[in-house]
Amino acid sequence: MSYVDEVYQMVVEKNPAQPEFHQAVKEVLESLRVVIEANEEAYKKDALLERLVTPERQLLFRVPWVDDKGQVQVNNAFRVQFNSAIGPYKGGLRLHPSVNLGIIKFLGFEQIFKNSLTGLPIGGGKGGSDFDPKGKSDREVMAFCQSFMTELNKYIGADTDVPAGDIGTGAREIGYMYGQYKRIRGVYEGVLTGKGLSYGGSLARTEATGYGLLYLTEEMLKCNGHDIKGKIVVISGSGNVAIYATQKAQQLGAKVVTVSDSTGWVYDPEGIDVALLKEVKEVKRARLTEYAAARPSAQYHEGRGVWSIKCDVALPCATQNELLIDDAKALVANGCLAVAEGANMPTTIEATEYLQANGVLFAPGKAANAGGVATSALEMSQNSERLSWTFEEVDSKLRNIMINIFHNLDDAAKKYGMEGNYVAGANIAGFLKVADAMTAQGIV
Ligand code: NDP
Repeated sequence: MSYVDEVYQMVVEKNPAQPEFHQAVKEVLESLRVVIEANEEAYKKDALLERLVTPERQLLFRVPWVDDKGQVQVNNAFRVQFNSAIGPYKGGLRLHPSVNLGIIKFLGFEQIFKNSLTGLPIGGGKGGSDFDPKGKSDREVMAFCQSFMTELNKYIGADTDVPAGDIGTGAREIGYMYGQYKRIRGVYEGVLTGKGLSYGGSLARTEATGYGLLYLTEEMLKCNGHDIKGKIVVISGSGNVAIYATQKAQQLGAKVVTVSDSTGWVYDPEGIDVALLKEVKEVKRARLTEYAAARPSAQYHEGRGVWSIKCDVALPCATQNELLIDDAKALVANGCLAVAEGANMPTTIEATEYLQANGVLFAPGKAANAGGVATSALEMSQNSERLSWTFEEVDSKLRNIMINIFHNLDDAAKKYGMEGNYVAGANIAGFLKVADAMTAQGIV
């Protein structure tokens, strides 16, 4: 059995009931096969892959808090500090009922390569809880966040582990967590990113993931002879990533015709009205039915269906495993040119392979959505300098980072004989830097 297969089998045996983690490891190891086989003896002797797939540290803790009725609630919480070979652990905190250790490990594992691809000195980590902020009062969210940080503060710091937002963790949650960290530790430092602008946040961080997705997509299209201007784009999700992806796509001259949430989706052939979408989702925190009710050109549908709309570019921006094989077939049948992942692992392995086999340009999340973490790293730099850069300065650095990422993965794919396979390119480029650093630092 090859080294790659041995390690994958070990992951499945040692981490039962964590299918998303298995999926993420499989996808990465498969595309690294050619690199691993070329260095198999040295990597195997150092157990490099075994160390890479095993988190340096996994924290599991309970979070007790009191709800508005005086009832005590208990949630499970996690922080997985996966790999610090190239910098302090960096990765978001997900608050969603679906969160479990396997989900956090898949996200933390992906984060290692994503962070490496940004070219910035940040290691990989991820955390979260099965707490659901939806439908909770501000006081309940604060009670949860304070209790969560009362435990988490022991393990994080500006030079050790710097969490950020993710699904369910927005500006409100980061604010409550930051306040509690400062109160307990007594230091004013950049321990979290995604902070409010009045207390150390970076301009353009809110927009960064969605904007970065479009900068990379634009470059990928350009290098393959297409212009994003005039393209029809379908987007899933209607959260942070989806909203700013929609905004930047429209600024670049494309027309976005769909968005979705966990209950339904909207088709708006006139093009999504971003101001209205922001009002419904960011201000009212309401369902998409309210968007459709306020916009005569929009049709609301229950369930899933975004990928059935004819488009040139598809941008999945909601959650993992939301673009399945039948969706990939529909996209290909409708002549879709490119898919770029705004969410983490939204496309199943089967669907990814189908899209690639049918000539669709495919940018994986660890490259395409790296703008968020890259701008978080820029927030860390500003906090260390005690300076704030302008929106234009951050945005222009973000754009350069995304263009560089695309060329890194394009070059890596070409170098290893897989031209146009950006999944392999991203995994190889991300891996090589981390593997070099791990080798240089000895067996730790
Ligand atoms: P938000 O919580 O702001 O939005 C998530 C969106 O996806 C919402 O529209 C939500 O619908 C929908 N959604 C969530 N879970 C499901 C589900 N199980 N089925 C269908 N729809 C669902 O999150 P973000 O926009 O921040 O994150 C979206 C994705 O992007 C995630 O995969 C995240 O890990 C990834 N990402 C985010 C970054 C960031 O900077 N924010 C950086 C890099 C990656 P509803 O409102 O109904 O819940």
